[in-house]
Amino acid sequence: MARKVGTFGHMRTALRNVRVFDGRQLLPPGTVVLDGDRIGADASGATMMVDGAGAVLLPGLIDAHLHIDGRSALERLVRFGVTTALDMANAPPEFVDSMRGIRGLTDIRSAGTAALAPGSIHSRIPEIGQRGVIRTAGDAQQFVTERFAEGSDFLKILIDLPGPSPDRATVDALVATAHRLGRLVVAHALSYEAAEMAQAAGVDALTHTPLDRPLDRTAADRMAAAGRMLIPTLVMMEALTAPSTPPEMLAEWAMPSANFDSARASVAAAYRAGVPVLAGTDANTAAESAGNFTFGDSLHRELELLVDAGLSTIDALRAATALPAEHFGLTDRGVVAPGRRADLVLIDGDPVHDIGSVGSISHVWCGGIEHTPVYLAKHH
Ligand SMILES: [Zn+2]
Repeated sequence: MARKVGTFGHMRTALRNVRVFDGRQLLPPGTVVLDGDRIGADASGATMMVDGAGAVLLPGLIDAHLHIDGRSALERLVRFGVTTALDMANAPPEFVDSMRGIRGLTDIRSAGTAALAPGSIHSRIPEIGQRGVIRTAGDAQQFVTERFAEGSDFLKILIDLPGPSPDRATVDALVATAHRLGRLVVAHALSYEAAEMAQAAGVDALTHTPLDRPLDRTAADRMAAAGRMLIPTLVMMEALTAPSTPPEMLAEWAMPSANFDSARASVAAAYRAGVPVLAGTDANTAAESAGNFTFGDSLHRELELLVDAGLSTIDALRAATALPAEHFGLTDRGVVAPGRRADLVLIDGDPVHDIGSVGSISHVWCGGIEHTPVYLAKHH
């Protein structure tokens, strides 16, 4: 599947006649050079040419919320154009480490073990459920220090309100400790109350959306003023609130009144207020989870749901490229520019006109290694 790269020098590939999405607009057809694992500036001496014939080149896609379950997940993600993944809780650290930095495969950053309350719904998840338990605010400093010592890139806090959750003082202490260490904090919040606690503590990102009562203008303005991100995971919100979901499962993970309209309205309010909205799926295969979907294709579905919730197609593209790179400090990716990682996706069709065309992948490169893409059939 991956093209073999010669050991003598690196391969230089010229993509000619491609329109590039630069984060704001589609540029007129031009040439982009892959120089080994980087985007180059000089097409001379290119050993391979790809004629884009007006196709559109995107930065490699970023899924800002998933849970990697093994190497096969990375191999699948890359074939759907997802070249970076933010793993929003995983354990043990040895497993996370084994998923890092595999040449030519999707590159991850991970929260590692998330903070959670004893008796919470998340405490049922094997490994994380035991490792992540925090009982009091007094334990926060040690908890956070251990996470970063074992390799976590950022901190994840599972605010499981209205169920058992770390209390306000504990969440405050976790966030303050992580920030002292210069790290980002992401909070799981499926209720309005949980989102309020997360905001009061000063987290950097909320993930999921309230399902009981949408984020209103006050909450959204507060997020925007703080530069706080929203990673709504609409595919998970849709699965969790689907008519086929057993009511007892919905009640356990969220609340009986949970509904998808609240998720869509929350995204719309945040977007209107100027909150950075990032594309994430919560793709996972945990048996205990409220919803399972497959890696990679789910991100394409998320892009459609974000547009459906009110994002412009340009902002949906940014949600899966430039924005997560910028906000998670991944300065070597997220845009197509010389010197950046050669994470590139060539698609048929115009994604500004039709977000669904992002799934029509003709070529994909991850760190300069080409993979055989999965070409998603258009369903409209
Ligand atoms: Zn998750």
